Amino acid sequence: MALVNEHFLKLSDSYLFADIARKVNAFKVSHPQMRVISLGIGDVTQPLCPTVVDAMHKAVDEMASADTFHGYGPEHGYDFLREAIIKNDFAPRGIHLDPSEVFVNDGAKSDTGNIGEIVRWDNSIGVTDPIYPVYIDSNVMCGRAGVLENGRWSNVNYLPCTAENGFVPQIPDHRVDMIYLCYPNNPTGTVLSKAELKKWVKYALANDTLILYDAAYEAYIQDADIPHSIYEIRGAKQCAIEFRSYSKTAGFTGVRCGYTVIPKELTAVTLDGKQRVPLNHLWERRQSTKFNGTSYISQRAAAAIYTPEGKRQVRDTIAYYMQNAELLRESLTQMGFEVFGGRNAPYLWVKTPHGIDSWRFFEQMLYAVGVVCTPGVGFGPSGEGYVRLTAFGKREDCEEAMRRIGEWIRSTH
Ligand SMILES: *Cc1c(COP(=O)(O)O)cnc(C)c1O
Repeated sequence: MALVNEHFLKLSDSYLFADIARKVNAFKVSHPQMRVISLGIGDVTQPLCPTVVDAMHKAVDEMASADTFHGYGPEHGYDFLREAIIKNDFAPRGIHLDPSEVFVNDGAKSDTGNIGEIVRWDNSIGVTDPIYPVYIDSNVMCGRAGVLENGRWSNVNYLPCTAENGFVPQIPDHRVDMIYLCYPNNPTGTVLSKAELKKWVKYALANDTLILYDAAYEAYIQDADIPHSIYEIRGAKQCAIEFRSYSKTAGFTGVRCGYTVIPKELTAVTLDGKQRVPLNHLWERRQSTKFNGTSYISQRAAAAIYTPEGKRQVRDTIAYYMQNAELLRESLTQMGFEVFGGRNAPYLWVKTPHGIDSWRFFEQMLYAVGVVCTPGVGFGPSGEGYVRLTAFGKREDCEEAMRRIGEWIRSTH
């Protein structure tokens, strides 16, 4: 008799984006004449850049001939990509890594979700709140999150990020074993300055805390004093794992490629406290057993991002999204909304007017002007009273949405 992993039964079936889709569909059925505009999309919309497309075509041609065919590759990625990563993403920032510290993968979701396998199930965890749901749900699945009580998991330390604290999470006053940080942040679009991130590294070193640093939106950083990598902070190699992804950087959501950095210096302790074990080695062992690498074609595509033309083309696409973000931020601010984020990230975090709740504002905006947002509470308890807008849509749609919302706001005053 096979018994189920009962931790899975603690997870709720209702999924935020499924709930939104259901409500939007109900609206479309009753308002067939209204063109719905989504500012809730969490996926990129612009195509792959030409340099990446060319590299993929070339890789496909190689696969078509016995002389140049590629079968199983190294589990942790081809050297051409690991070396390009080190040379372009880290060396220019004064960070020196060895190729064996870079694990190429099929995107950041897999590794942020799986990383918990190499640490004990009973470590305590901390998450900024609101948060990317993968961090919590993957811990629920192995029992690490505890039980759900009034919308909060019993073994999870929630670090609220709200307008009141300027979206800077407060350092816990007690020891937490593992902490997830995501900067630039999804969903709030806010960032941590180097000075703030330094405090986290200091806390982690003092408390033997493992920081799981998700830098999926690193490419969107515009301001000079915002760290692109946690390893820009001295000491971070001893306490942090960093996750990167080409999904938002270069439109790879459908291609699938990213990487995880686990420095050789990073260790965790055994239960008896007698031995410190390098996490790089455990992850290498885990990946060689359960992962067979991401495709050669995807890795050639990723390497093309680091060519001069690739870099320029990727920058142009990011600039397009960031101009959308600026348009949304300026328009909404002029209308009187309190808007956060959107300067170093493709997300805007907007306070609902008059303190109404996230879902109610979502429905008001949908029914008044046919514009879809994402209710902030779907990302955690501290997201209540906010909605998330994304800059991933078309320019014309952003403009039209701002025109409609502007009229709506004026008419209700
Ligand atoms: C989109 C996103 C990722 C990237 O996921 P992939 O699996 O690489 O597509 C990772 N973290 C956050 C917070 C994200 O929003």
